[in-house]
Amino acid sequence: MWRRVAAAIAASSLLGCAGPNLFTDLGSVSTGTVNRGRIRNPARMPVTGKGWRVPPRWKRRGFQWATDELIAAVQRAAGRVRSFDRRAVLGVADFSRKTGGASAWHSSHNAGRDVDLLFYTRDTKGRPLPPFEEGMVKFDRKGKPVANERQPYEDEGWEDRLFDARRNWQLVEALLTDASVRVQWIFVSDDIRAHLLQWARRHDRPQWLIDYARTVMRQPGDSAPHDDHFHVRVYCTRADRFHGCRDSGPVWQHEKKTFKYHGPERYDPLAWRLLLGPPRTLL
Ligand SMILES: [Zn+2]
Repeated sequence: MWRRVAAAIAASSLLGCAGPNLFTDLGSVSTGTVNRGRIRNPARMPVTGKGWRVPPRWKRRGFQWATDELIAAVQRAAGRVRSFDRRAVLGVADFSRKTGGASAWHSSHNAGRDVDLLFYTRDTKGRPLPPFEEGMVKFDRKGKPVANERQPYEDEGWEDRLFDARRNWQLVEALLTDASVRVQWIFVSDDIRAHLLQWARRHDRPQWLIDYARTVMRQPGDSAPHDDHFHVRVYCTRADRFHGCRDSGPVWQHEKKTFKYHGPERYDPLAWRLLLGPPRTLL
């Protein structure tokens, strides 16, 4: 009898955890998955700041909302790239809608854990150029701009711009080394990925960072190839997971060592390792 009562109390206290304090959490809370989730109490990305700008096209759309952690991480990353060259300005496209949820624009971006970032571009002398105002421009494996036959670019002079591998790599490094977010994916085309990894190798970047970037940078199989922007996705924070935030897809091997999950592990590391190539020690 007493055992049954104790079990009932234990069960109700467990349920209690996921309930009321969702409303007493004063920070942002990402709930559900990136495809079917929402955000509660989101942070807003200011349209300009030190090292970034939300260009007009994306400002009009109003998708500047995300978790506190992701907004802060993008600001820090842009600030870091700017610290090497004050002319560097990151073009920040869409996070999520204010309440999160589905939209006509994106199949994910529902839960404040995704952001689209424009590529940094440069002129032929290596000088950083400001972000495009009205569109994303595609780049090939050599970092040259590619015309979009179906939908011509609105920004003038796009054909004179080059992909800025140095600053795009600095951005990737800044995101991957930010301790307050854990990056799950940086979706980007195979060509851009190869271009960036080659740049990093030639410039003697730390091997663990190159391996880390190689793991998370991926051309998605089921959507646009992402040859005109980065799409960054971060894992649920531990606190948000407690409130119903749900990751899907792989948890990288190094994440498991540095990030303690609440609740039982739901992933099979061996299966993912077989799928994604040889295991690496990354951190
Ligand atoms: Zn996206």
